[in-house]
Amino acid sequence: MGGMHVHLRIMFVDGTVWLARILRLNSTSFTDRLSNQILESECATLKWLETARIPAPRLHHYGFRHDKLNRIGVAYMLIDELLGRPLTQLQPSEGEKRKVFTDLAEILSTLSSYPFEQIGSLKFDSHGSIHVGPVAGDRTGTLSPMGPFSDATHYYSAWAEEYLRLISDHQLFIDYPVNAYLIFRYLHILAIKGKFNDIESSLDLGPFYLKHMDDKGDHVFVDEKYNITGIIDWSFARIVPAYEAFGPSLVTADMNDIFSGNVRASRDDKLLAQALPANGSHLRRFVNSDGRVRRLTFALGMGMNLTWAEALCIFKGIMTQSCGNVNDFEWKTWRRDRLVEWADDERLVVLSREEEYIQQICRHNPIVSLAQNEVPRFATCSFEQCSRPSVRGKSCSSCMRHLCMKHQSRHFHLCLPTSELDDEAWEKTITDEITKLLVKTNIGALCDAATSLNQGKSCNFTPGQFIGSGAIMGCANYHAWITFNDGEKWIVRIPRVPYSDIPSKLIEYLVDSEYATLKFLEQTKIPTAKVFGYGLASDPDNLVGVSYIFMEAVPGAPYQAHNANLEQKRHVLSQVGEILIEISKHPFQTSGSLILDDGKVVVSDAASDRFVSLGQHGPYDTALDYFTSMAEQHLDIIADGQEYFQYPKEAYLFFRILRDQAVAKLIVREKSSAFYLKHVDDKGDHLLIDEDYNITGIIDWQFARTVPACEAFGPSLITASLNKLCSNASGLTNDDIFLARQFEMKGRADLANYMSIDELVRRFIFGLASGLYRSEVLGILEGVLKVCGKECTDIEGWIAKEWEVCKVDPRCDKIEALIQENTKPWAID
Ligand SMILES: [Zn+2]
Ligand SMILES: [Zn+2]
Repeated sequence: MGGMHVHLRIMFVDGTVWLARILRLNSTSFTDRLSNQILESECATLKWLETARIPAPRLHHYGFRHDKLNRIGVAYMLIDELLGRPLTQLQPSEGEKRKVFTDLAEILSTLSSYPFEQIGSLKFDSHGSIHVGPVAGDRTGTLSPMGPFSDATHYYSAWAEEYLRLISDHQLFIDYPVNAYLIFRYLHILAIKGKFNDIESSLDLGPFYLKHMDDKGDHVFVDEKYNITGIIDWSFARIVPAYEAFGPSLVTADMNDIFSGNVRASRDDKLLAQALPANGSHLRRFVNSDGRVRRLTFALGMGMNLTWAEALCIFKGIMTQSCGNVNDFEWKTWRRDRLVEWADDERLVVLSREEEYIQQICRHNPIVSLAQNEVPRFATCSFEQCSRPSVRGKSCSSCMRHLCMKHQSRHFHLCLPTSELDDEAWEKTITDEITKLLVKTNIGALCDAATSLNQGKSCNFTPGQFIGSGAIMGCANYHAWITFNDGEKWIVRIPRVPYSDIPSKLIEYLVDSEYATLKFLEQTKIPTAKVFGYGLASDPDNLVGVSYIFMEAVPGAPYQAHNANLEQKRHVLSQVGEILIEISKHPFQTSGSLILDDGKVVVSDAASDRFVSLGQHGPYDTALDYFTSMAEQHLDIIADGQEYFQYPKEAYLFFRILRDQAVAKLIVREKSSAFYLKHVDDKGDHLLIDEDYNITGIIDWQFARTVPACEAFGPSLITASLNKLCSNASGLTNDDIFLARQFEMKGRADLANYMSIDELVRRFIFGLASGLYRSEVLGILEGVLKVCGKECTDIEGWIAKEWEVCKVDPRCDKIEALIQENTKPWAID
């Protein structure tokens, strides 16, 4: 399997073996149109190679993606399987290498006898004959088709210009956009000045030749005797100027030289030059040239995943080669001078302004620690004389105590945690809890309330099932039925209140805000349950005694993605796309949760979060405040021992990365200052569906809040792989990409951009979840570093180093005290 393709072996009875080369659909996939263009170009190239007698897999058949004529269902090529192994998997001796290069030189020599008049990629015309069409993308997947071109100067400058466009659009080099822009603007100038074809400027107008553009070495297959059996992977092959086609390329490059900026022929460059056959001697001047085009084209194609340090090294090499000896080249000075020289470049001005803004945030993002002050707590430990805050979510419903970090340990607290109860004991706990809840509920008053809300119709209360299959109870709410005398059915939703540390004020706020959210949704086209009324436990006028919401019973069953086939899943995601588009039509000025104020829906405090680890917070006027505050609140409560006490240092560093790195990256994506409603717990079971997977309603809106567009329309839980999310495997999922495409197809490229950029926002919002092991937290930490462009191979080393850097924050002292205490064998007094 390669990055773009998966290969299946097809064996015929006579022993012939073909490969089905099938285009993968993953996070780096291109649009259908571009994929098909690239596939067509590869097919045309293989056909052409066959006529030119260049050893390559023979093409037998192919089919396009989403093409009515293709009954296979996926884009594919049927090709010969080549014998042998990729050169990069072997360790040839120098003699064996000479053997390979002799064959390779022969191939180059053959290619040199087929000149073309234009630069581009091969394609079929309507009669099936082969000619030069636009350049069909590049291996980074970032370049859109361009050309064909009649001269080299235009080709290289259009290439650089396209990169400038992508950089200013934040599609490339998002970690150092200003630097990248400066480099590519410089490359653009070099291209216009003809510096790429300095070697032989007369070749600017051609002739041009076919080149394998991804020739790192794994494209060459050899047998045991190091004879080349064929060259594979011709996607992106191009017709290029002679000095690029035959000059030093990646297959003979010393990558250390490329990165370190050393200008010299590599060992393999020399071997290849020596291997040129007599009839290939006209190529010698190219093979022996100084590698400038290799470095320039490598730089132009570098696209993704280069760190700034690597990019700078490559650029220094270019400076050395294009401007002579620049040993004293100093990036900072060069950068400053270019910013002045190109001050009238609008795109550069915008990028610089954004960069300044981010730097400002990082500088002025004060450590607004509450550490000195009182950190808000949900509850105080119930142990006698203990004044510490309880760990959030750790209260024990058996002995009815709130437990601090110390007293939750087995030395002090002996009750079994719910997760360790057997079925019977667990069922008893739940039954006790619901029985108590129903005892507290004045059913008569509840029915009276329903009757008065529904034209005086009398009604009955039917308890909902809360255990076993068919249960209609959620983690946070108990549900029961209200049936009216004419058969109309409502659902009554009552918050569960097992013994817990969640303040009752917060529980009421969740009810209040869910009701307002549903009221707001009634004004939109989003399918959801109509609400009829609600009551809060603390309201003296509410005779029911508990909080409740009356709502319509929406038909349908919760959507379970794992039970759906691909087609059903896509049908659901496509509807999710429609729903998000509808949400995009209802912007808010402020970030927070909705409540009713005098019957009007307004934005107020944000209603906790999905894991109920935060209290009420906000509201916020800017995306910056919103994201920063959430990270800060976690930093405070971690240092206070209220969450993640098993690994406070790692958790602190995680939220620190969010605050210092992720926030800045997220807010530059915001195209406006508006906020949009977000279903915070959108795992999938919030969608009710009918038998045909049509969404009949969206339920469970507690925690809903208005959020910045990058969160509202970016990757979320519905398209996540939860396993990946709890590990270092950061990256968009196929479902993310599918949803992004849906946005595109529905004419909302603006939303598609939020969805397809990366999964940073999902990692931000998912945070450290709850109940994870330290090993999982390390994975998550690696994952978020990766999305922030800071790949890390030694996470323990990184933690140690980063901790030293952070120590100026007084919260770190508190955390070190927590760790100290955690290692103490708790003594029972
Ligand atoms: Zn207990
Ligand atoms: Zn305690």
